[in-house]
Amino acid sequence: MRDGLGRSIDYLRISITDRCDLRCVYCMPAAGVPALEHAEILRYEEILRLVRILAPLGVKHLRLTGGEPMTRRGCLDLIRELRKVPGVESVAMTSNGILLADQIGEAKAAGLTALNLSLDTLNPDTYRRLTRGGDVGTVLRTLSRAAEAGIQTKLNAIPLRGVNVEELPSLAALARENPICVRFIELMPLGCARDLTPVPTVEVMEHLEAAYGPLCPDDAVRGHGPAVYVRPEGFQGSLGFISALSHEFCGHCNRVRLTADGSFKLCLNHTKGTDLRALLRSGASDGEVEAAIRSALAEKPARHNFREALADREARRMNEIGG
Ligand code: SAM
Ligand code: SF4
Repeated sequence: MRDGLGRSIDYLRISITDRCDLRCVYCMPAAGVPALEHAEILRYEEILRLVRILAPLGVKHLRLTGGEPMTRRGCLDLIRELRKVPGVESVAMTSNGILLADQIGEAKAAGLTALNLSLDTLNPDTYRRLTRGGDVGTVLRTLSRAAEAGIQTKLNAIPLRGVNVEELPSLAALARENPICVRFIELMPLGCARDLTPVPTVEVMEHLEAAYGPLCPDDAVRGHGPAVYVRPEGFQGSLGFISALSHEFCGHCNRVRLTADGSFKLCLNHTKGTDLRALLRSGASDGEVEAAIRSALAEKPARHNFREALADREARRMNEIGG
């Protein structure tokens, strides 16, 4: 499936809930946000129907996200069903890792292909402050259980000025001691994050180079996304960098998103898209849904335009979009 600019789209991020058990300062306000009504959220059968329509068009890689996907009952059953759809090659999840700690075996059995764990600090107090209440020990338990279970795992960390910059080498050290990938993601100026200061990737690289020497490109690591990977001398795993602001990757964008309320979203920072929930519930045939997807795709924006204040700049928060 190609968009209007000829980019091949094979990756769908599915936000299955806007709810979360944490309240990260860059993602949600302390008091939380009014949650979507149950009826507003796409039902699992609706998600499965959309994936059955999209897979024959070339969407092979899926990622469940949220909010926190594990807060929605039946999340692991959904993974099991998604893995059965012909053409679907991988079903990954992005999670804060809290509720997964005791369900890694079940996740593996359901067919979870890969896990991205969000972890911005190893310091228990900083983690509690940053997530407004989370326990970092639980996330680390998930990390080691996922490794034991053989689930391919990456850590996602957002460098934040005045919060974890000094600690970045310790986070990177997890990839020195373990065959995992630690990725540093530039904060995107969406929602609550507009009040925080991103640390440019080039500065993060300088810190890591000072600690571990040259960051040699690691061509062996491949994801389905925009990260650049390196492997310093002596590392078992690798380090990744995702920088929406300083290195725009839109020219190679291969993804579309489904928000928890069923909007087919074409770009992180644009409101452009189609209300697939309304279409599904209007009794549309699969052919009509496919036609709506194709015509939406023709309009996929060329770039995210974070730097420009566009009239249609995304007003939703990350917990609604899913990252
Ligand atoms: N709750 C899950 C988690 O935290 O992994 C999945 C949803 S969360 C919205 C997905 C990812 O988005 C997380 O890795 C989080 O750190 C990241 N994120 C949230 N707000 C962000 C922002 N403003 N800029 C960049 N990444 C952000
Ligand atoms: Fe929840 Fe993930 Fe947002 Fe943190 S980043 S508040 S864990 S959805």
